[in-house]
Amino acid sequence: MSGDRKVKVLYDELAIADRTEALAREIAAAKPKELLVVAILKGSFMFAADLLRALYRAGMEPQVEFFHLSSYLEGTVSSGAVKILRDIESSVRDRDVLLVDDILESGRTLAFAKDLLAARGARRVLICTMLEKPGKRAVPIDADFVGFVCPDVFVVGYGMDVAHCYRELPFIGRVVTAQDAA
Ligand code: 5GP
Ligand code: MG
Repeated sequence: MSGDRKVKVLYDELAIADRTEALAREIAAAKPKELLVVAILKGSFMFAADLLRALYRAGMEPQVEFFHLSSYLEGTVSSGAVKILRDIESSVRDRDVLLVDDILESGRTLAFAKDLLAARGARRVLICTMLEKPGKRAVPIDADFVGFVCPDVFVVGYGMDVAHCYRELPFIGRVVTAQDAA
């Protein structure tokens, strides 16, 4: 990669770490039973890894699964349909499930996952996202646990990408464009 990428930091490592510990304590206080944490790939991988370690410190012993979901794209615009690229392997019947994702925007991805796991017999499907963009919802769905309510800008880092770039950043930020710099 060229070294000229500029990202304006919105949430730094310390802010993310503090908020993640608090989220884990909130989740533990909800006293989930037979908890299965389902991380939605790809964007949630870094948040899920940190949240799971915080859940351990909060005294939880969850099982962990991965769901790889993708919105159908028409050009660069999401058509609204969600495709399962890789399903979870465990039964969710009569279990509490915590869906973990990077960001709740239109809500289509999480609504699809929540409805599917409820239809498969989950007792309770809770949702935890690192970020939430308010006012962007296309379907009525809320997260039970939210790291930060985020401004309506396209963010990257901490697992979130543009064309597979920026996922490695340990912070969350906004790509600075030539227009911003002018
Ligand atoms: P939705 O809630 O619209 O179904 O989808 C949310 C997904 O869209 C997120 O999991 C993430 O992959 C992607 N997304 C939404 N907003 C942003 C953003 O600002 N930056 C990045 N990198 N991805 C986003
Ligand atoms: Mg995603």
